[in-house]
Amino acid sequence: MVNTPYGGSLKISMDIGNEERHIAGLKGITAVKPFVDFFYDSLKLADGSYSPLEGFMNEEELETVLKGKVLPNGLPWTIPIIFAVDTSQNDKVRAGDQIALLDQDGRPYGIMDVETKYMLKKKEMAQDVYGTLDIKHPNVQDIFERYGDFAISGRVKVFRLPKLPGGVYEKHPSDVREEFARRGWKNIVAYQARNPPHVAHEYLQKVSLEIPGMDGLFVHLIIGRLKKGDYKADVILDSYSALLKNYHRPEKTLMGSLSITMRYAGPRASIFLAIVRRNYGATHYIIGRDQAGVGNYYDPYAAQRIFDEMDIGIIPLKFKETFYCKKCRGITSESVCPHGMEERMVISQTRIREMLKNHQEIPQEIIRPEVAKILENGDVLNE
Ligand SMILES: [Zn+2]
Repeated sequence: MVNTPYGGSLKISMDIGNEERHIAGLKGITAVKPFVDFFYDSLKLADGSYSPLEGFMNEEELETVLKGKVLPNGLPWTIPIIFAVDTSQNDKVRAGDQIALLDQDGRPYGIMDVETKYMLKKKEMAQDVYGTLDIKHPNVQDIFERYGDFAISGRVKVFRLPKLPGGVYEKHPSDVREEFARRGWKNIVAYQARNPPHVAHEYLQKVSLEIPGMDGLFVHLIIGRLKKGDYKADVILDSYSALLKNYHRPEKTLMGSLSITMRYAGPRASIFLAIVRRNYGATHYIIGRDQAGVGNYYDPYAAQRIFDEMDIGIIPLKFKETFYCKKCRGITSESVCPHGMEERMVISQTRIREMLKNHQEIPQEIIRPEVAKILENGDVLNE
């Protein structure tokens, strides 16, 4: 059996195919276009990716998540799923209202029953989740500069699926679970990524697949709002397709996208991302060095240690830093390679981006040629 959903069952709130009827019912009610982060989250609440959450968090839920890393019922949960209303629309939305949700093109896709409205404690939220008030941190900057001052809570129903950056790779948890079942997979390891793959990433995937009894690898790519210098969505998708096609067994891998805004919250984000992957049916979850980190805000292994104190029903596979070792003549890791730092070829994403900008050739020890070819195409980064 694939893993059970977090909290017991998938909480799905979608009614696709009855768009006309739903739109007719929207006459006269307030329409709101959520900020893109909340737009993505509304779709993931509706398709069960965030189970057991059934709607945007109210003040009590937010408080227990911030202070205790749990939902009010005691179930571990680390990342706020909130809906801050744009200041311009604040006066139009009240507790008790039903509102229409508009996608990024202004077309209605869902309905929300607004249960409560409350003032966001932004400082508290930034400090508790991201551990900093520094607006150089991308999510902290969002909280202070892009989120409205008030949040609304309540359930969402989605009646139309808007276009998402992941395109055809964007799958619901129920679809992926069905596919796993069809393939007869029971033990599934999920791999979180948001960048084109290095050979070191492939190594972690393959080492995990070598675990006796492991049936398959689910590569789940976070694709969402782009910051300057991020890889474009289709570059991430194409480069992973190239890796899977040329270096993985097709019957052992499945790729999907998760169009949400990345939370660079280190350990808290790692738990959250693992919960989502459990909802997709994964039994195991790969955590490399500095997962969900940004800059130097988090200890690189804090994202692994947090799994020692929180059990969310998925087996964490923790890996030390991986690199190409000239003496070993291959990809290896701190856990097994006995050689010194001087033998290691460590090339960061930042360095690769620099090399791309300067039209330098990327070494094959670091990136597969089929992937490098896509990256060297130019125009791969968001300006
Ligand atoms: Zn070595």
